[in-house]
Amino acid sequence: MDTTEAITGQCLCKAVSVRAKVETRALRACHCDMCRKHTSGMFISVATVPGSVEVSGPAKSFRSSDWAERGFCEICGSTLWYGTVADGVRHPAAGLFKNAANGAMKIEFFADECPNGYALAGEHQKLTTNETIALFAPEDGDTQ
Ligand SMILES: [Zn+2]
Repeated sequence: MDTTEAITGQCLCKAVSVRAKVETRALRACHCDMCRKHTSGMFISVATVPGSVEVSGPAKSFRSSDWAERGFCEICGSTLWYGTVADGVRHPAAGLFKNAANGAMKIEFFADECPNGYALAGEHQKLTTNETIALFAPEDGDTQ
């Protein structure tokens, strides 16, 4: 049984549309320094079915490291996705979708890099830098 649902979002200027399939309504936040530079805060993504993300419009990507890229709109500069190069998986930005695709915060990555001046409310999992790295990059040693 297919329990997935399609969601569609747009960037600020509406030139880029992002469509994806979701199975659960979950949000993930990353506080790493690259995500903070790219978004001015944390990068919050919607958990999607891997490989289901379709992007149309003038999207560009910036190769931020050996293993990752960051998508943005060429016209308005909106943050579009965080992607891993090796498998081509893209994690779309929650801000593209109305009400963050009705997602609930489930996990924070690099929680110990969150600046002292703010924090996410609510009960959810918070992984430290070491825990985040251990979860994602057993070979390369980093995930940003
Ligand atoms: Zn745009």
